[in-house]
Amino acid sequence: MPILPPTDDAIAAAAAALRRGELVGLPTETVYGLAALASDPAAVARTFAAKRRPSENPLIVHIASAGDLPLVARTIPPAAQVLAAAFWPGPLTLVLPRQPHVLDAVTAGMDTVAVRVPDHNIALALLRAVGAPLAAPSANTFMRLSPTTAHDIEPGLQQKLACTLDGGPCRIGLESTVVDCTGAPRVLRPGGVPREALARALGCEVPLADAAPASGPRAAPGMYARHYAPRTPLRLATTIGPDDAGLCFGVPANSWQVAMPTDPESYGASLYRVLHALDALGARELVVQAPPAGVAWEAIADRLRKAAAAG
Ligand code: AMP
Ligand code: MG
Repeated sequence: MPILPPTDDAIAAAAAALRRGELVGLPTETVYGLAALASDPAAVARTFAAKRRPSENPLIVHIASAGDLPLVARTIPPAAQVLAAAFWPGPLTLVLPRQPHVLDAVTAGMDTVAVRVPDHNIALALLRAVGAPLAAPSANTFMRLSPTTAHDIEPGLQQKLACTLDGGPCRIGLESTVVDCTGAPRVLRPGGVPREALARALGCEVPLADAAPASGPRAAPGMYARHYAPRTPLRLATTIGPDDAGLCFGVPANSWQVAMPTDPESYGASLYRVLHALDALGARELVVQAPPAGVAWEAIADRLRKAAAAG
């Protein structure tokens, strides 16, 4: 329940709570996670219940280092080894063939497991203290905005946690890039690592799974048209009106408008925090001035499109 400064004692207490099967709010560089012991079926079930997350939506398993991959992955294809070496710890999730003992609840019954090493001292300290992989989806109710500060975790969800470790604002502020490495690598969800960076590391283009032809591989579970949304309806537009509430570029026309950074990293880092704050104002709708086109803005465009999709 409490939000705790990340002292050694608090990390030890959080690790003990996780080992008892309780849930812990966990800061990472992407967004705050809702951590549970990945090997504990009751704890994992509690995660789905707390988030009201559908069971067909798999969880990302967090490990302390790439050396722990064999704990959850049965094989590590060469492309996955290259990506892990290039981007871990970091905002990149690899989908790999799973070890048979990984819980069906974690993988949504699939033969694959999604795994990453977070680039955050507190998350890594907690993983080392627990000494076992943690299943950690974002610490939000299903479909809602992910929290990027400890205080943005909804009170109703906070109540279900043994504690939350306060790591301050998340550096990246958007969820991880999810890459399916079970065949030719493809991006299931754009995120903190841009596709251009993946291409540079692998020496070949990494397509977006969404863009695959109808005859190509099926979309993975957990990819919903509406997701990551504030409660206030959100509309994307080329311009924002003088009386609108929302996000703009340039000078805001009123106090319910927020001027957003013009580089994608800073924009991504503040997007959810700004939407959380505007959501509390009770506006009729939020208008978001569309960001520039281009691959560097792909993850942001994906989140805004999903937030704007009709519920
Ligand atoms: P979240 O933990 O809320 O950031 O979201 C986790 C997302 O990772 C899911 O919604 C899926 O899109 C993706 N994911 C997790 N596990 C798998 C898997 N085994 N195969 C494909 N995608 C996965
Ligand atoms: Mg999520």
